[in-house]
Amino acid sequence: MMTIFYPIGDGLYVNITNKCPCKCVFCIRDIKETVGENDNLWLDHDPSLDEIKEELKNFDLNEYKEVVFCGFGEPMMRLETLIKTAEYIKSIADIKTRVNTNGLGDLINNTDVADCIKDVIDSVSVSLNAPDKDSYIRISRPSFGEKSYDAILKFAKRCKDEGIETVFSVVDEITEEEIEKSRDVAESIGIKLRVRYKNS
Ligand code: SF4
Repeated sequence: MMTIFYPIGDGLYVNITNKCPCKCVFCIRDIKETVGENDNLWLDHDPSLDEIKEELKNFDLNEYKEVVFCGFGEPMMRLETLIKTAEYIKSIADIKTRVNTNGLGDLINNTDVADCIKDVIDSVSVSLNAPDKDSYIRISRPSFGEKSYDAILKFAKRCKDEGIETVFSVVDEITEEEIEKSRDVAESIGIKLRVRYKNS
């Protein structure tokens, strides 16, 4: 059976795709904090909106504080489904929505994603992963190459400007010094950096 929704703490997480344009050396799929007890997030196909709605019937949204698009892959690979799912969720419950993303949505979809999601997504957590372009390429190995890092910064700034609560994250796989440099990059555009601990 495919796991589309999985609860972690106060959040109901949504897994809509396993596709991703990156190959991070520390792929989030291995990080316990994100995946929790749910170890079977591999999908045999990308679920349709109908399948997502059907699966959602097994959960009571009143029991959660937020719905988080996350899972074993990059939610922005399915921008339209993400938006329609978030729209549907907002239509049936008074609940916050968040997307955990690699921040490459604009390049993936060739559009201004912040503008597309601003009405249905309350917050985004963007994986900055590195303090500069070169280390980003080494760490995340994005299929878009060189232009990726600037695209991430631009996307996060756009989200913030659209009133979406925006945070950057790094995984403690990089050095203390790199974490501090990443914090400077994030704060230079007015965004907070959160450090995620791989082994906690
Ligand atoms: S962006 Fe996320 S899902 Fe994609 S390779 Fe990196 S950690 Fe894994």
